[in-house]
Amino acid sequence: MKTLTDTIVARATPAGRGGIAITRISGSLVPNIAAAMLKKMPTPRLAMFSSFYNAEKIPLDEGVAIFYPGPNTATGEDVLELQGHASPAVVDMVIREVLKNGARLARPGEFSERSFLNDKLDLAQAEAIADLIDASSEQAARSALRSLQGEFSRQIHTLVEAIIHLRQYVEAAIDFAEEEIDFLGDQQVATDLTAAIAALQRIEDNASQGSLLRDGIVLVIAGKPNVGKSSLLNCLSGKDSAIVTDIPGTTRDVLRELITLDGMPLHIIDTAGLRDSIDPVEQEGIRRARAEIAKADLLLVVTDATHPEEDYTQLMPDISKKTAVIVVRNKIDLTEEEPSLTPGAQATIIALSAKKNIGLDLLKNHIKASVGFHADGEGIFSARRRHLDALARAKQLMLQGQHQLQEHRAGELLAEDLRQAQHALGEITGEFHSDDLLGRIFSSFCVGK
Ligand code: GDP
Repeated sequence: MKTLTDTIVARATPAGRGGIAITRISGSLVPNIAAAMLKKMPTPRLAMFSSFYNAEKIPLDEGVAIFYPGPNTATGEDVLELQGHASPAVVDMVIREVLKNGARLARPGEFSERSFLNDKLDLAQAEAIADLIDASSEQAARSALRSLQGEFSRQIHTLVEAIIHLRQYVEAAIDFAEEEIDFLGDQQVATDLTAAIAALQRIEDNASQGSLLRDGIVLVIAGKPNVGKSSLLNCLSGKDSAIVTDIPGTTRDVLRELITLDGMPLHIIDTAGLRDSIDPVEQEGIRRARAEIAKADLLLVVTDATHPEEDYTQLMPDISKKTAVIVVRNKIDLTEEEPSLTPGAQATIIALSAKKNIGLDLLKNHIKASVGFHADGEGIFSARRRHLDALARAKQLMLQGQHQLQEHRAGELLAEDLRQAQHALGEITGEFHSDDLLGRIFSSFCVGK
């Protein structure tokens, strides 16, 4: 175990006033800090009611103190939790006192980083902590918890075990090339390799569903006023989960909304905000929105079925060719059409009524299908872009190795591909990592976690 000598402190509960605020301290100075601020060492893992004192023995607050001696703690170090009153002023005083006793303020994610560095969690699990905190739906939370509890990592480990086994076999075949026995020709390697690739494919499927649950998709919505865009969004999300957000840093006129569809976040950019403007701030906001639109996964053009003559293609903003387009013909209750889905070369056309909730399933299913989302929530674990990249690289290498084996009986090349595939998988759990990567991952956590 690495010794991380600094003792760190942070407020673990959200800022602001409330019932209880927890100040968390981790590191080698914890026993000294506990003795100084509580006047008495708490019994390990037992809640102790106490005042929290400053150096002059004046109480700053009172509450429950719990001392967790390392190494069986979240960070692997001695940890002290002070549960006091959630007043910013009081928490500030308590934290300042801890600092006076030799601790320093924790960086974002530093407690989790220590958990990782002290082998309490692997990297995929540590990332799942942040994903659980940020989860925007029940399904996303459940999949993050599954990753945190090690489901993703376990599957990676099982796969890595299989690869190690294969490597031993293949490397033995290389070493004993002169012998009579043809290791590579006995089908065992080919069978095991095929099984490993299939296992990797299953992990990749679940991970990509988990990644969609975590990151969602960008959906651009276009349409004239009053065609029923808001009604449609509310129907899609189920009214309660519709959140209207104004992302800071962009102009107030580019509307962004976040809704969830069966747990998958849909980041919606409403092109109503894309108007000509001479205001430089607004122009910048519009420029950014356009950049996002160019990367959108899906464009939803909403039209009014009672005005069939309108040319929807004029409403299509600059989107890339690979963005799927769905044209919604809304208000079919007025034209008395049946709900329908018509695939087309340029766009899929879906006739529905947002107000009467007719045909909405066609749209929901089509949105999910067009980004490959089929999550029923079972067996899915949260995953990030970086995990998907590593899985894709590993798969590519294993397929390449399979080709070397099938076509050329090239044991050396297969062995090298397997070695690199194992390395790529090890990046997921953090077996192989750089400080730079850790910095990037943990700096996006909140302080106190
Ligand atoms: P937006 O301006 O595009 O966001 O449109 P709204 O969602 O605010 O809807 C404009 C008007 O159209 C409202 O009065 C809605 O009640 C009505 N509307 C929306 N969808 C339908 C529909 O499917 N059928 C009918 N008859 N009216 C609708």
